[in-house]
Parts: sequence; structure tokens; C-alpha cells
Amino acid sequence: MILLDGKVTAASIREELRGEILAFQLRAGRAPGLAVILVGEDSASHVYVRSKVRACEQTGVLSFVYRLPAGIPQQELLTLIGKLNKRLDVDGILLQLPLPKGIDSQICLAAIDPRKDVDGFHPENMGRLALGLPGFVPCTPAGILELLRRYELSPSGKEAVVIGRSNIVGKPLSLLLARQAPYANATVTVCHSCTRDLAGHCRRADFLFLAMGRPRCITGDMVREGAVVIDVGIHRTEDGLCGDVDFSQVSAKAKAITPVPGGVGPMTIAMLLKNTVQAWKAVEMERMR
Ligand code: NAD
Repeated sequence: MILLDGKVTAASIREELRGEILAFQLRAGRAPGLAVILVGEDSASHVYVRSKVRACEQTGVLSFVYRLPAGIPQQELLTLIGKLNKRLDVDGILLQLPLPKGIDSQICLAAIDPRKDVDGFHPENMGRLALGLPGFVPCTPAGILELLRRYELSPSGKEAVVIGRSNIVGKPLSLLLARQAPYANATVTVCHSCTRDLAGHCRRADFLFLAMGRPRCITGDMVREGAVVIDVGIHRTEDGLCGDVDFSQVSAKAKAITPVPGGVGPMTIAMLLKNTVQAWKAVEMERMR
């Protein structure tokens, strides 16, 4: 069984990006910058933002963190986004989700300049993904495909089953897997809360992607012998972090599997940095023309 080590893979991506930044920074005259907006007191979001800021520091990306109170009026948040859209030292804008009640995340995400939308959630970038055009790809699905690429596990022509259809994971992941592209070309089934016979679909999967947000819900009997299993779920339980998969049962059957923690999570952050560097380079190349 191959343990798909997102921690080690993300560290090598950060190293590659560090080199890329050092090389291009001389020409650009400045480092890439990422603005992170955190609204409210959601404790998991605070942990994620700290990890993102640390990863920026390790890579040579400047980070600007805006911690705002839960009760902030939506208009104030939109004004901040408008200011960040204009700032020349900000290449990427990340609005940490979920937002508190009373703030419409779709309106706020759509206010971000698509060229700075390093999370890939703007309708323009989502549309580009659906059409197979270049644009920012959401970080978690992008990180999953990068992990498969680095372990040379291609889903091309295989049965891929994605459990979950959220805008941030399941939906973009299924679009990416079905694309006519290397490390894609899969036959994709999307399962969700209304799916009948979830276990039956899971058992058909050569590549099984879990993004349902249900702790240890996928057991060994639901997984095909030799499947590649990617567990996106993250849950804090009394005995530590776990994913959507019952790891001890499923790892006994899988050909390859991601651990939780240390699988998809670090890859998500690595892709955020990669998108920020891409945004920075695009702006600076345009300026140099
Ligand atoms: P979500 O709640 O928005 O979506 C969950 C999806 O699972 C829904 O589409 C729902 O239809 C489906 N689902 C729920 N119960 C089901 C069932 N019994 N059978 C079939 N489908 C079912 O969640 P999300 O934002 O997509 O996140 C999913 C999980 O991934 C969460 O645990 C989240 O914390 C984690 N996550 C991890 C990362 C990372 O970087 N590792 C990033 C984003 C989300």
C-alpha cells in the first residue's frame, strides 16, 4: 500500500516555488503578496489561516491578514475587497470560508478581481474550469490532482467516484477529473446526499474521492481491492483528527491512500501558494511588456 504523503509533497512544492520566486523577484522588483480575510471567530478557520500564513513565510510570499469581527456589515467587507483589488502589492485575495450568517459568500466572492481569485471560487474562474479554459482552479481539487501526478497514479480511462458535490471540493473535482487532459480523462460518477446505494457506487471505483464531511463513514467493505482512495474530510474527534474514511479498514484494501492529517490538507495550501505565484507572475509579465 502506498501512503500518499501530502506533507512531504507539499514541502517539495514550496521549495520549488521558493526557487521560482527568488529567480523572478529580481526582475519583478517585489515579492508576491497574498491578502487573507478572516471574518468571525470560527476556530477551525483561525487554524487554517495560521497554517496558510506560515506556508507563505516558508515560501517567500508576503501575507496581509485582515481579521474582522463577525458582526461586520457586508458592505464593509465589500469595500475592503475593492481596496485589495486595486492594491499593486496584493496578487491574491483569499476570503476564508465559511462566512458568518448575514454575509452572502457568493456576493463577496464575486467581488474579488478574477485575476486575484487564487482560491478559484469566482464565477468567472468556475466557468472557465467548466469550459476547460485556463484560469484559477480551486486549491483542494488542484492539490488532489497534483498529488496523483506526483505519485504517477493516472485516473485516465478509470472509474472515478466523487462523494460530495460542494462548490469548493466535489463539483470542481469532478469537472477536473472528466477533463480531456493528462491525469484526468476519468469516467466520473458524482454521489451526494440523495444518492441511493452509496456503497455500490464506492465499490465500483478505481479512484475513490471522499468529500462528504462524515467522520469514518467509508468502511473497508465499501472499497474495491486495489482502489486509490483520496480522503478530503477533516474531523476533530476525541481521539484526534480523522477523515471520511475508516483508515485502518480501508488502507488494508487500497493500493494507495491519503492519510488525515498529512494528505490533502497540505496540498491545498501548496496550491494556494502556486496560484498566488502564478497571479504575481502574470501581473509582472504584463507590466514588463
Ligand atoms: P459540504 O458539507 O459543503 O459538502 C458535503 C457533500 O457531501 C454534499 O455535497 C453532500 O451532498 C454530500 N454528502 C453528505 N452526506 C452524504 C451521504 N451520506 N452520502 C452521500 N453524500 C453525502 O462539505 P465540503 O466543504 O465539500 O467539505 C467536505 C469535507 O472536506 C469536510 O470534512 C471538510 O472539512 C473537508 N475539507 C477539507 C479540505 C482540505 O484541504 N483537506 C478542504 C475543504 C474541505
